[in-house]
Amino acid sequence: MSLTQEFDTIAAISTPLGEGAISIVRLSGTDALIIADRIFRGKTLKNVASHTINYGHIFENDTLIDEVMVSVMRAPKTFTREDIVEINTHGGIAVTQEILQVLLRNGARLAEPGEFTKRAFLNGRMDLAQAESVMDLIRAKTDKAANIAVKQLDGSLSHLINSIRREILEALAQVEVNIDYPEYDDVETMTSQMLVEKTAHFEQLLRGLLATSRRGKILREGLKTAIIGRPNVGKSSLLNQLLREEKAIVTDIAGTTRDSITEFANIGGVPLELIDTAGIRETDDVVEAIGVERSKKALSEADLVLLVLNASEQLTKNDEELLELSANTNRIILLNKTDLSEKIEIDKLPVDFIRISALKNENLDAVEQRINSIFFAGEIEAADGNVLSNARHVALVEKALSALTEANNSLYQGLPVDLVQVDITRCWQLLGEITGEAAPDELITQLFSQFCLGK
Ligand code: GDP
Ligand code: ZN
Repeated sequence: MSLTQEFDTIAAISTPLGEGAISIVRLSGTDALIIADRIFRGKTLKNVASHTINYGHIFENDTLIDEVMVSVMRAPKTFTREDIVEINTHGGIAVTQEILQVLLRNGARLAEPGEFTKRAFLNGRMDLAQAESVMDLIRAKTDKAANIAVKQLDGSLSHLINSIRREILEALAQVEVNIDYPEYDDVETMTSQMLVEKTAHFEQLLRGLLATSRRGKILREGLKTAIIGRPNVGKSSLLNQLLREEKAIVTDIAGTTRDSITEFANIGGVPLELIDTAGIRETDDVVEAIGVERSKKALSEADLVLLVLNASEQLTKNDEELLELSANTNRIILLNKTDLSEKIEIDKLPVDFIRISALKNENLDAVEQRINSIFFAGEIEAADGNVLSNARHVALVEKALSALTEANNSLYQGLPVDLVQVDITRCWQLLGEITGEAAPDELITQLFSQFCLGK
């Protein structure tokens, strides 16, 4: 994709391909209505009012392809700020593909991944951070992650970044003013003093932003969670409960790999990425000789470990081994099978275990609460919108922060103010890359190409 604005008309299937009830084929560009009219019978779409839905049929030559509803949205009040036509079909995969092909034979070009969103960006409909949040939204694994993306789409991160940039620019302007009016005594010292205060302030703002990024990463990407325990303690039962509990399990998201065995459970808004679940399912009723080896591997990859013990039996050597192996991880010890009489030696365990019954679905709420408090301790719900969650944004804020650190060092070493100015300007530019105001072309091209097709 090149960054020169191209206004040819692009088309793609905008809904995930599958058994869904409705699929949408979307057209965007100057000729969207002309092309649609070539294949649509019912009304002349060129003449209908904007933002209307129109009933009719899709034909190629004289062959009927499908009965459809067609939305017509005229520029500029559209997602791409171009004319958009959306063909809603109720057909399956074959019919949807067919309609796309007919559009391509009638003058549309197949859209590249992310090209609709890229046009929205190039046409000034949104900034880069907002465009990325469209992508985040598509990939969001839980309601909370989706909430953050929605707020960023709304521009709240961009507003924050812009206001910090504006403050930085004001400070830089102040430096210029001071330098231009050197009649003041000791202008250099005065300016340095001002910059010491300003950079400290900017550093504080950026640190605050970074502090939210760990949480943002978890919400976006999921918390890698391993369920470990010796055979028959109830790992599979717990896994099934976690997956069943779950209000919105996301096992597959359009645009991500389809062959992965990872399962996601939404535990009170924290997406758990349950690792090696195939292992847990697969080894059922089989001698689990590889149990400890597998646990070691899972432990090395996990952000969170759920260690399951059987409360109705005494601790075994294997249990003790796993307790020790997981001692230095983020671990929750679960005493399972508490519906039976308790035989486990509690005094040999760390005190923060949780009693559950996977079979009877008892006390799993407490597990949910523990997970929440471990990862969101002390965080304020309302801060969501400004959570820095995108890896690219985090990296840029980190770089911007180190530019400030350099500015600080120069100030303390008494180096000339114009050297400090260079660092602060760099900080300002790096932050601009977040919203796209100062982003290089290749970066933008690369970012949009990560989108799914049809977005
Ligand atoms: P895994 O080998 O660790 O995956 O254990 P499973 O989940 O396959 O469970 C082993 C056996 O323990 C099965 O018969 C389960 O029904 C039973 N089980 C699991 N959880 C509980 C529980 O909370 N209470 C009771 N009484 N039995 C359970
Ligand atoms: Zn099992």
